[in-house]
Amino acid sequence: MQDIEIYPASWYYNACVQGFLEVLAWGLGDEGEEIITEQILRSDGRAVIPGNLMTAAFSPRGTPAAVYIREVPEDLPQLKRIGWWWVEKSYEEGFIRKEDRGKLLNAEAKVETVVRSLFHKSANYPNLVQLTWDLNKKLGFINNWFSIGEAEGLDIRCGFCGRKVGIEKGGSVYETSLTRSLSIHIGNGPNVFPNLFWDGLPGLIICKQCRAYFLCFHLVSKNGFFINSDSLLVNWHLNHLLSGKVNGYYHQSLLKAMQYDRQLRGAIGSWGLQNMEELIFERDQVKYYPVSATLARLLLIPGIATLMSQIANNRVWEIILQERFDYLPTVIYKSLRAMLTGENKEKDPEIVFSGHNNAWPVNNLIQLYYAIRQQLAGNKGGAIMGYINLKEIREIARMAPLDLNTNVGKNLVYRLMELTRLNKKTEVYHLLLRSYLTSDTKRQFPVPLARLFETNDHELFKTGIYAFIAGLNRSDINENF
Ligand SMILES: [Zn+2]
Repeated sequence: MQDIEIYPASWYYNACVQGFLEVLAWGLGDEGEEIITEQILRSDGRAVIPGNLMTAAFSPRGTPAAVYIREVPEDLPQLKRIGWWWVEKSYEEGFIRKEDRGKLLNAEAKVETVVRSLFHKSANYPNLVQLTWDLNKKLGFINNWFSIGEAEGLDIRCGFCGRKVGIEKGGSVYETSLTRSLSIHIGNGPNVFPNLFWDGLPGLIICKQCRAYFLCFHLVSKNGFFINSDSLLVNWHLNHLLSGKVNGYYHQSLLKAMQYDRQLRGAIGSWGLQNMEELIFERDQVKYYPVSATLARLLLIPGIATLMSQIANNRVWEIILQERFDYLPTVIYKSLRAMLTGENKEKDPEIVFSGHNNAWPVNNLIQLYYAIRQQLAGNKGGAIMGYINLKEIREIARMAPLDLNTNVGKNLVYRLMELTRLNKKTEVYHLLLRSYLTSDTKRQFPVPLARLFETNDHELFKTGIYAFIAGLNRSDINENF
């Protein structure tokens, strides 16, 4: 079979291709991620899937294939590999019926639970498969859906990729056109995706290849967002970074992200930063945000993307997507307050907070704001605002003579936070100085803290003091970082 070349198109198409590549990566086992990023995704934005890989993927178990691929279990000899990978990947991503969660399922039961969770009437692909069908009929559907090679002799072209489409006699309309059963988002909100060449009619013809991609959309939409660009390679990396697929703590994920850095920069160099967009999926609705070149550049910095994934708060994301960076200190202030009081009373969605014991959500937010500010100042060619070492400030805070376990101490910290918000630098200084000088141990005023007062940049000053407050020792603090 010939190699399959995929060119980036509308966001919806690109998201589905990303989902399909996720399925392939899964099927390729431990080598998967590397084969996708080093061999299939190209720096010119295309994806090229080798013909022999497609042949192996679209065949059942036992047919020749590379040794590292995941084989279909013996119980399902008729199912194509791609079908099994699609089932298993969906299963791994949590597309499981409620009653099956936490159970150990065999291969047949996995097919059943994935099919039931994806095709029921309010699921991702409503009624494409009848839940009452027996297992064989369901397997037949999956096998048939994932087919390649078109019937000859027709001159109708696919509305997405432009390939000729062969419409088989007796075939169902669901298999050859983009209906609401295949895409609830597109069926429901034609006004929200200006880049899609959809005419609102239910007759958009699709080829078998695209059809296979479209059945993988759930693997992307489950993240709640999709960043789209003119390059499938950039999409792959950015969406992985931002969805926290690079697991683990900040430092580990950052190291992993750095490996992508070279590829991302290479790809973006030739494609420009002009056409990036972000889609946020909420129930049946899609919110669309164009991403400016400035923001695109920020997202391409692994440290920033990684922090965003750690914060994982839709409102904070929206603030960043709207480039309302100046509003972030307000979010930091509110989150800090919630952390100190131990509750988010009004359930304010803008607050990042996961309990009194955990300072990391707010620390990450402070770090993110600082990184964005530094970067923007650098982009403008201006002097980067003064440097502060947030880690050092947090360490000093841990030893600071401000006791959050007494009411007097708490009140002092609230006052410190309030004065900082109002930017009353002198009063902040006096309050801190007094605390250090009058403490039992008569500690010296720490140099990194003193340095904060030398800056003329209000925002930098606030960021530093907020980091200090976030780092203050609490008796019941849980140091899990
Ligand atoms: Zn097509």
